[in-house]
Amino acid sequence: MNSWKIKSVMNYQNHRKSLAAIGKEFHTNKWSLGTSSNYSVVVSQNPLQLLLTASGKDKGALEQSDFVVVDEDGNVIEGAPGKPSAETGLHLLLAQLSNTGAVLHTHSVWGTVLSDVFAPSGGFFIEGYEMLKGLEGIKSHETKKWIDIFPNNQDIAALAKMVKTRLDDASNPTTHGFLIQNHGLYTWGATLFEARRHIEIFEFLFECVALRRMMA
Ligand SMILES: [Zn+2]
Repeated sequence: MNSWKIKSVMNYQNHRKSLAAIGKEFHTNKWSLGTSSNYSVVVSQNPLQLLLTASGKDKGALEQSDFVVVDEDGNVIEGAPGKPSAETGLHLLLAQLSNTGAVLHTHSVWGTVLSDVFAPSGGFFIEGYEMLKGLEGIKSHETKKWIDIFPNNQDIAALAKMVKTRLDDASNPTTHGFLIQNHGLYTWGATLFEARRHIEIFEFLFECVALRRMMA
């Protein structure tokens, strides 16, 4: 192994360990099965650099070497051999929001089903649940939280452009997270801990909304 490869495995080891633990947990919870999902941590704000899961890795069994570091243009500047996640552009977009320390993306059953059912409306409300308070800044269950659903697109640049329009909407911006139709959830947080909590809270709420709808 050459020194460059050794360096790539050694850097940000704590983040690698935390993301591997999250992958194992999310896989157990069926939110990140197979090689689906991708996770990143902002390791430098200026210039922007992300430690990101490499493409095609089993999220239940992430190794220390299953990550790359990308720059603000998505170029791999550390980690070999391998490509960054196909969805790097979305991670970079969300990492540019103020106060983003980590971005997590999952493919759960309930998120996928809801993103299908409510796609014609472009989203849906989650309302009245105590667990909404697990989303940063929400103080009461008396909250009407809108979840955007964007059409799925293998052209990540085009998808990122649509998401950016909603993030930049001054009067009613997308916050906390969003769904991609028939695909999955993106959320972010000031820290990896906060982003992990947002996944947990959203997945709980998605299950509530879906089950409630089935029982109505
Ligand atoms: Zn995905």
